[in-house]
Amino acid sequence: MLVVQKYGGTSVATIERIRAVAERCLETQSQGNDVAVVVSAMAGETNRLLGLAHEIQENGNDREFDVIVSTGEQVSSGLLALAIRAMGGKAQSLLGHQVKILTDSAHARARIRSIDSKALSDCFVAGKIAVIAGFQGIDEHGSITTLGRGGSDTTAVAIAAALKADACEIYTDVSGVFTSDPRIVPTARKIDRISYEEMLELASLGTKVLQIRSVEFGMKYQVPIHVRSSFHREPGTWVVPEEEHMEQVLVSGVTAVRNEAKITIPRVPDVSGVAARLFTPLAAQGIVVDMIIQNASSDGTTDLTFTVPRADRKRAIEILLGEAGDLCSEDRLSYDDAIAKVSVVGMGMRSHAGVARRMFEILAEESINILMISTSEIKISCVIKEKYTELALRALHDGFGLYLPVDKRPAP
Ligand code: ADP
Ligand code: ASP
Ligand code: MG
Repeated sequence: MLVVQKYGGTSVATIERIRAVAERCLETQSQGNDVAVVVSAMAGETNRLLGLAHEIQENGNDREFDVIVSTGEQVSSGLLALAIRAMGGKAQSLLGHQVKILTDSAHARARIRSIDSKALSDCFVAGKIAVIAGFQGIDEHGSITTLGRGGSDTTAVAIAAALKADACEIYTDVSGVFTSDPRIVPTARKIDRISYEEMLELASLGTKVLQIRSVEFGMKYQVPIHVRSSFHREPGTWVVPEEEHMEQVLVSGVTAVRNEAKITIPRVPDVSGVAARLFTPLAAQGIVVDMIIQNASSDGTTDLTFTVPRADRKRAIEILLGEAGDLCSEDRLSYDDAIAKVSVVGMGMRSHAGVARRMFEILAEESINILMISTSEIKISCVIKEKYTELALRALHDGFGLYLPVDKRPAP
């Protein structure tokens, strides 16, 4: 068998933890497996490095930022290889360029194009554990790139896909994927098996236990992903193709994101072409608009509200004032950064009505006002005031009975 294991920041936070990881890698190898290990930077290191760079420059989408922040993984991969060798094992560290993780040139958010698995198979032939620095790649010009926060998950799943590994184990500081963030919702339950589709939706809507791109890779190449704890031996959560029983689960998880801002343009003319004129310049500048609502018109005008990434809010308003100044002006346009988007996700929503109604009811019982709503086949999202995020998560989680085993949950 061929196993890829990925250890996150807390799992390699100290030399003692790195020794525990080394033991686990050796144990996996001694069971007859070829082992490729992907490591994150030691906990807190990526933030520390980013902080240094930000003292000099605000914009982080920069070649030199990637040179700086990628070093965290270089250190932990070297340390783990040393620790394995110190225990009598054979190991070799490999940086992104040495595994030829070729990416595009979008610094700080690069996407993997290809991986050359030759260096890894050479390690296996020599009986070595391959210890790969996560998060980093190289572009066609030879510049170091990084894959976005949480990117080591994607390195691991992409390597598992390239090697056609039997499993990709993601070791972290929780026991698996839970029905909600266990740090916020104390009654959250571990999920045993979840489909790629649901996991992708949860990851896109704020569940940071897996990076979105890693789930996309897993789904595309059918890599079985096992999310589990590096602190104990219990099995965690398998992320797998959809199984029949999954459709029975109405709500699998509840999640939230706080990184969006809401912009409202009141009283725009209710005629064709207006939305296109507002959103075309935003798209042209690479600003991703998420939710949009437009009210019914009464006097020939309508209010338009939409959300953008909070980090892009200031730029979005500048673009709108510059490119569509006749439709919006500085004194009319308003924004709100203190919002959160809470979502419930579940395969069963495809075939059951009533989940949205119950969600609105639960939020109403807590007197939480809903500012915007959007739905897709397997999720419902509501924008609320940011200060109610934790309250909403706990209320929705318990309101849908997610603290109970699946077969004991009440109908909505
Ligand atoms: P690592 O450093 O190992 O990559 P992360 O911090 O990226 O770990 O991801 C693990 C964290 O994800 C957990 O500590 C937990 O707080 C958070 N999390 C958020 N939502 C969930 C969820 N539904 N299930 C499990 N963990 C979650
Ligand atoms: N070290 C990087 C981060 O903190 C990548 C990772 O840990 O997955 O985002
Ligand atoms: Mg992570």
